Amino acid sequence: MGSHLLSKSSFIKGLQCDKHLYLYKYHYDEMDEFSEMQKAIFQRGTDVGVFAQKLFPGGKAATEGSPPDYKKGLKKTGELILQGGKIIYEAAFMFNEVLSIADIIVKEKNSLSRRSQAKTEWNIYEVKSSTSISETYLNDAALQYYVISNSGIEINDFSIIYINNQYIRKGELDITELFTIESVIDSILPLQKFVEENVERLKKVIREREMPGIDIGEHCHNPYTCSFFNYCRKHIPENSIFDFSGMHLKKKYELYRDGIIKLDDIPDDYSLNKNNGIQLDVYKSGEPLIDKDAIENFLSDLNYPLFFMDFETFQPAVPLYDNSKPYQQIPFQYSIHLKEKKDGELKHFEFLAESGADPRVKFIKGLLNDIKGEGDIVVYNKAFEVTRLKEIARDFPEYSDEIEKLILRIKDLMIPFQRKYYYAPEMMGSYSIKAVLPSLVPELSYDKLKIKEGGIASITFEGLQTETDMIIIAETREQLLEYCKLDTLAMVMILEKLESLEK
Ligand code: SF4
Repeated sequence: MGSHLLSKSSFIKGLQCDKHLYLYKYHYDEMDEFSEMQKAIFQRGTDVGVFAQKLFPGGKAATEGSPPDYKKGLKKTGELILQGGKIIYEAAFMFNEVLSIADIIVKEKNSLSRRSQAKTEWNIYEVKSSTSISETYLNDAALQYYVISNSGIEINDFSIIYINNQYIRKGELDITELFTIESVIDSILPLQKFVEENVERLKKVIREREMPGIDIGEHCHNPYTCSFFNYCRKHIPENSIFDFSGMHLKKKYELYRDGIIKLDDIPDDYSLNKNNGIQLDVYKSGEPLIDKDAIENFLSDLNYPLFFMDFETFQPAVPLYDNSKPYQQIPFQYSIHLKEKKDGELKHFEFLAESGADPRVKFIKGLLNDIKGEGDIVVYNKAFEVTRLKEIARDFPEYSDEIEKLILRIKDLMIPFQRKYYYAPEMMGSYSIKAVLPSLVPELSYDKLKIKEGGIASITFEGLQTETDMIIIAETREQLLEYCKLDTLAMVMILEKLESLEK
């Protein structure tokens, strides 16, 4: 262990749960593996942090490396301050065995102390890649204030810099509009006693070296899903009450604390909502539930030719294109399978944007062309595609009339599964296409694909924006095309299965 016991991140872990902090310190290897999505979110946080340094140009970095070399960082921060540095990035401080690395510190002014000696004051800035300030951010800032102010630094102000999601890019990126700088000093000063007490409490947790006897509960999900979630759940069997879809966490943990853990343990007279009741009945019977009348009714409302349509989008934190906001979902790819009639051949159309330019105009032009004519458009989760289309109509009004007509043709293949016209035990309460496919069309699978879900498609395309290796670009584009194509093919086959059930 290093010379510090706590840091910002371990303090936040400890506030969530003593055991979380203990496991992080002594059983790091048991931590859940980070998903590709989580890694991408962390990377985004780092990138936004570096980008925000442009608000205070000309500074010097005190701490570098990943993980950061904090010992060097502490030394260099001291040196930079002594040398009269005005702006320091990643400035490291330690007090009472707590380490804090501030994103940006800026020398504010030299004022006179009571003894008429020059006194230097600093503004501290913490950068977040989110679009608002949460309670956790305030606790994090309060800890930093505690460490930095007690290290002999006079703090004039403490602010959180976060992304302004109302900013619409017009031409050159306006970094002062992209970020909101909000002083939180009035919120974190009253938290200093809370910080001090918790620092002492959490240091005791670490020193005692004894696993805190804390059971799983609602706290495992708040403010973040704990990184030892699976470790603490080894005793939860398959088909447990935690698999109930849509059931409130509070209710699940009430059952758990009452010793009702397996689905088989649910008493017959236990009151469940309709969906959870179906989920339990189907689990117990082992047979799918099929409401043929409702399925027939749904199918009778579909008009051939059918266009099976799916979009992929990405959400850059820093808007890349004119007329777009931070985190706006930018459609960059579609796949369409066209089926002229029930037993007809399939035709396939697709679009995948090149990196660099705004993909939206080429996307919508291609789509309107590929999908023109008569016939319904089948999507899975209509709200997603319709919202993206409305956003394009808003940002490029010249296409709004055609888009409106297109939206009127959209039908949602998710309905029969969401409304439980068809429900099978292996769907585990979910009605996502990834849950429905193995039950209805087991022969079709995403398993062999490099890209298996939309979130990964999104970060993969974002990664292409800076990729220069032509071979990697070509391979990645191929993977994206395969993934999106499978999404629409899955819809075709799911519909065919529903049609066969109807008979
Ligand atoms: S999973 Fe829950 S109980 Fe286990 S360490 Fe995390 S927060 Fe604590």
